[in-house]
Amino acid sequence: EVTGTTIPALTGDDEAWALFVLHDITKQKKLEAVRKEFVANVSHELRTPLSIIKGYAETLVDGHVDMPEADRDRFLRTIERHAERLNSLIEDLLTLSRLESANAGLRREPVAFTKLLATILDDYRARPAAAGRRLGHDFDPAIGELQLDPLKITQALENLLDNALKYTPPTALVQVSARRAGAGMIEVAVRDNGPGIPAADLPHIFERFYRVDKGRSRDKGGTGLGLSIVKHIVQLHGGQVRAESTEGQGSVFYFTLPEK
Ligand code: ADP
Repeated sequence: EVTGTTIPALTGDDEAWALFVLHDITKQKKLEAVRKEFVANVSHELRTPLSIIKGYAETLVDGHVDMPEADRDRFLRTIERHAERLNSLIEDLLTLSRLESANAGLRREPVAFTKLLATILDDYRARPAAAGRRLGHDFDPAIGELQLDPLKITQALENLLDNALKYTPPTALVQVSARRAGAGMIEVAVRDNGPGIPAADLPHIFERFYRVDKGRSRDKGGTGLGLSIVKHIVQLHGGQVRAESTEGQGSVFYFTLPEK
């Protein structure tokens, strides 16, 4: 889209150049639109818990002296919960913006990959929130050392495990596997047999703030940023993410990493 300009008839090289410029303008407009939408989303996401905190705090300050203690406790706990939500949001936003900044440095080092995965799973099993959960693994012993940033890869896998916990019933089975996928890539899969993701939502779930069910995600402490953080971390490493899901049967989240 070009505003207020008439484009003269062009031939040959001129035409190619004009197409290039047009393409560039369209790309810039798209970027700008994405940025605007992001800012609008952030404002909305921050405002919602803030206004809840404000409302409950005002009610408490207005001093309903005869307010039953149970109600006061409930109000205070609501305030606390929404303050925590604000905190997770800000933390996730900072993580994303660090990952997106031009000098998002990866601290790469040689890492025995399946050992790292096993440690992450053990730490995970030790968490109270994961108590009683069935978490299996299956690692190809031929996988050796990879050059990666262990803290960031840990965060990526933890985000996927967190989701498996949040969105599947306690009886669900979660399986983490790692295999050599050919073309010099390692592929990690996090599989669950939970409720799955509707086909219409699946192409969008790695987008910032995209949730299949906003209410459910918020209740579980989700920010809508977890999967986009995973995507950024994996892409910085030169890998890719994707997801497969069948409603009623479960979901599989994949990421790849280069072997060298
Ligand atoms: P959130 O903070 O909402 O969990 P994510 O970016 O981590 O944000 O995930 C985006 C959405 O994808 C979630 O809100 C949820 O609807 C869906 N989702 C993610 N993982 C799973 C899963 N294992 N099973 C079903 N739905 C999932």
